[in-house]
Amino acid sequence: MRQKLLALFQQTYGCAPDTLARAPGRIEFIGNHTDYNGGTVMGASIDRGVWVALALRTDGQRRFFSDFTSALVTLPAGAPMKQSGAASWVNYPLGVLAALPAFGLRAPEGFDYLAISDLPVGAGLSSSAAIELASALAFLAATGQTVERRTLVQVGKHAENNFVGVPCGILDQGVSGFGERDHVVFIDCRGPRFETVPLPADAHFWIFNTHTKHALVDGLFAARHRACMEAAKALGVPLLADVGPAQVEAARDRLPRETYLRAKHVVEEIVRVDRTVLALRRGDLAEVGRLLTASHRSSQHILENSTPELDFLVDRLEATPGVYGARLTGGGFGGAVMALTNSQFGSATAQTVAAAYAQQFGSAPDVLHMQTGPGAELL
Ligand code: ADP
Ligand code: MG
Repeated sequence: MRQKLLALFQQTYGCAPDTLARAPGRIEFIGNHTDYNGGTVMGASIDRGVWVALALRTDGQRRFFSDFTSALVTLPAGAPMKQSGAASWVNYPLGVLAALPAFGLRAPEGFDYLAISDLPVGAGLSSSAAIELASALAFLAATGQTVERRTLVQVGKHAENNFVGVPCGILDQGVSGFGERDHVVFIDCRGPRFETVPLPADAHFWIFNTHTKHALVDGLFAARHRACMEAAKALGVPLLADVGPAQVEAARDRLPRETYLRAKHVVEEIVRVDRTVLALRRGDLAEVGRLLTASHRSSQHILENSTPELDFLVDRLEATPGVYGARLTGGGFGGAVMALTNSQFGSATAQTVAAAYAQQFGSAPDVLHMQTGPGAELL
């Protein structure tokens, strides 16, 4: 990727870059819909991501190019203006530029910018956080500024929330920023507090991307959010993370059924996340796997954000040798399933699962085998 980045930069701008940075995508490991409830969540940085190259210019022009659209976008320096159409991808680096002053940091004036990626877009692997963090690192290094990781993470989240306009939690940027090879990042969303937990050897990630998406996904997501906030209010706390399963059970009769179910999922999922940390620290991947699959079953039956496609894959994977556990990864209502496996589970087995899916649903999911990888870094 480094050679490709340098060659494409030379070809596009006719010079060599001053600064190179990369940031990884991530897998949501466990903690479904816990982040906006102030709970805990875990994610793993993967060995794929976004690479950014930058060279400062003295004429105040900002030029952007990416292997994503292959059209050069030229903008003047100064306050970033939101782009639309084919140039909308530029909103990610522009959002970072717009965020920097909010953290007391300086944005560069003119520059030539290039991004390339080996992450599939929209596969639930957070290419958006990867481009934000790689861009932020490059902009800061090119202007001689260094920041703590937690600031880098907050800059990326600020860009996505405020400039791009996606109300994501801290998981994506937190894992891209704090990820480490052979580790899983644990995040307590209040604070937020970040910690890495070693992943025992012989743990492999497989992603089955169904390319399905519920037509009403935004509305369904908003409905889950609303139900959780209503439950917290009825329980007299600011966020559901302030109560445990016993308090939700005690309130069962006075909560509308749907509100009760959503709250039950969230508080029990937080308990599962905490158990996963303990099981990982013991090196007990069998128990980790059981917790991952239990997380899926709760999404399926209690939070009700799964789909027949995702359930089919989890059912199949659960019955396949070498699989510790499997669950939907991301917001749900379509998207991807991830499986945690040992090395007994290989490409041939993955293809058998994909073929069974194709027979049932008409088209095969994309199958991606991934390892963990380092977090955002200058190169
Ligand atoms: P996800 O984060 O799950 O991959 P999002 O919709 O949040 O999906 O973010 C995808 C968007 O991020 C793309 O539509 C594009 O605008 C931007 N993006 C990702 N990778 C690149 C890249 N290599 N070059 C330019 N833009 C990119
Ligand atoms: Mg994203």
